[in-house]
Amino acid sequence: MNNKSETPVTVIGLGLMGQALAGAFLNAGHPTTVWNRTASKADPLVAKGARLAPTVGDALKAGSLTIICVTDYPAMHKLLGDASDVELDGTTLINLTSGDSAQAREAARWADQRGARYLDGAIMAVPPAIGTAEAVILHSGQQSDFEAHKSTLDALGTVTYLGADHGLASLYDVAGLAMMWSILNAWLQGTALLRTAGVDAATYAPFARQIAVGVAEWLPGYAQQIDSGSFPAEVSALETDARAMTHLIEESEAAGVNAELPRLLKAMADRSIAAGHGGEQYPVLIEEFSKPSDA
Ligand code: NAP
Repeated sequence: MNNKSETPVTVIGLGLMGQALAGAFLNAGHPTTVWNRTASKADPLVAKGARLAPTVGDALKAGSLTIICVTDYPAMHKLLGDASDVELDGTTLINLTSGDSAQAREAARWADQRGARYLDGAIMAVPPAIGTAEAVILHSGQQSDFEAHKSTLDALGTVTYLGADHGLASLYDVAGLAMMWSILNAWLQGTALLRTAGVDAATYAPFARQIAVGVAEWLPGYAQQIDSGSFPAEVSALETDARAMTHLIEESEAAGVNAELPRLLKAMADRSIAAGHGGEQYPVLIEEFSKPSDA
């Protein structure tokens, strides 16, 4: 059994992210083979000790673990599907290319037919964070495949295993983005409102942060309500929230700021109330979120 730092790794795709991944493996002492369509992007890595493979097929033969990180799944399929010297049998392929869950599951089937072990991954970090604990990298697929390579993957940051369904990493990726954009949009709505009264963004930010952290504390209890399908109004009924949403819409309109987000919040609450859920607690809205938007 190799020591962690002796395990050879191949990185295919040396864009901004692939270069950071290969650099982190090199920093951790792994013999690192790289390949990129535009070979010159390997130069800084070669200067740090990486070996540039002449072909994709040669890169795959360098060891049993290959990380691929290219623009999208079609690029990955083109790259690994087209080349005649590509031999995936016996390889563990970890695909850190961003995509959706259907693409991930399809890629897993494709890799299986080619005799490769396959993990799908999602990188929740920017390139400069790679190699630090701040870089969260999600993986899904067979747990034994993840466990076999975890000590090597640790060079990249905080690596996490989610489950056997190869689509999970992509789903967590977009779920995380939904959190990020929703929190930012809510903050921007409040900032736009307060600026009409001369309060600048920096003044409002600490208060907004306090609200965001406070709401985050509600999640475990609200999750229990969702998982049990029971939504007793322990602290507030949805119809009480809906009345406050009206204030948010009216304030936004009166202040001359965009009211699209407040109207969307109210429209969803109104539908839930019309369906008889006004006396229940806010997480009952999961029923609205769980339907297609044109239902
Ligand atoms: P990038 O800098 O644009 O690099 C794209 C890479 O894909 C390059 O190596 C490029 O090769 C290669 N590529 C594209 N089409 C190809 C094809 N048909 N055949 C062979 N190679 C091809 O992008 P990036 O920032 O490294 O992102 C790579 C992946 O990481 C994406 O899926 C992205 O969503 C994900 N990601 C990026 C970040 C980030 O902050 N950058 C964060 C999280 C996730 P050439 O060099 O020859 O063009």
